[in-house]
Amino acid sequence: MTHRHPKAILFDLDDTILNYDSVADRSWKQVCEAVSPKLPGLGTQELFTALKEKAQWFWSDPDRHLRGRRDLLAARMEIVSSVLQSLEVSDLEICQEISVSYEKIRTELITPRPGAIETLQQLHRDGIKLGLVTNGAKEPQRAKIDRFGLEPLFDSIVIEGEFGIGKPDRSVYEHSMKKLGVNPRQTWMIGDNLYFDVGAAQELGIWGIWVDWRRSGLSKDSKVKPDRIVHLISDLVDPAQGE
Ligand SMILES: [Mg+2]
Repeated sequence: MTHRHPKAILFDLDDTILNYDSVADRSWKQVCEAVSPKLPGLGTQELFTALKEKAQWFWSDPDRHLRGRRDLLAARMEIVSSVLQSLEVSDLEICQEISVSYEKIRTELITPRPGAIETLQQLHRDGIKLGLVTNGAKEPQRAKIDRFGLEPLFDSIVIEGEFGIGKPDRSVYEHSMKKLGVNPRQTWMIGDNLYFDVGAAQELGIWGIWVDWRRSGLSKDSKVKPDRIVHLISDLVDPAQGE
C-alpha cells in the first residue's frame, strides 16, 4: 500500500471546496459602500481598510479564531465595534447593521471553487471514500453543505460544532478515519490551512495536500512541508497534473 492510490480522502470545506476567505474583501467593500452615506466625513476606503486590518488582526490569534468561528456574528460585531470606536463613531445601530449585512453578503457570495463539485462526484463514482472535516459552528457549515448538495457525496461529515472538537486536534482525524474504516497510510487530507489541514494530518501519517488557493507558494521557513501542493482540488483528477 502506498499513498499513490488512497482508499479515502478527507476534505476541508472553506477555501478548499468553496470560495470563502476569497470573498471577504468584496463583502467588506459592498458593506462599506452601502453604509458610508450614513457616516458623513468617513471615506468608504478608510472604513474598508480599517475593517480589513482589524479582521486580519482578529483572526490571526488562535484563541480569538476558536471563539470567533463558534459565533461568526459575535466576531463580526467585535471587529466592527472596535473599528467604529477607533474612528470615533459611537452608533450601535450602525455596528449591528454593518455586522449583519457583512455576514449576509459574504454568505451570498460563497460559490464552489472551479471544478470542485465535479471532482467530488468523480472521486465518489470511482469508489474512493470521501470525508468532510470542517471547523466552525453547526448551522453555517450545515447550511453550506445543504446549499451546495454536498451531503450525498460524502461517506463521513465531521463538523467541529457537532463533534465538539475541531482541527487540528488529532481526534478529529482519528474519528473521521474510523468512520471510513481506513488507516492513515490509506488516507489523504486536503485543505488550505497549512497546519490544521496538512501538518496536523501528516503528524498522524496521513498524506497531506495543501490547497494554495492564493497561489502564494510555500514560504521558505514553513515548518509544514506538504506532500503535494495544488491550486484546485480538480488537480487531483486532472491527468495533466500527474500524480
Ligand atoms: Mg479552509
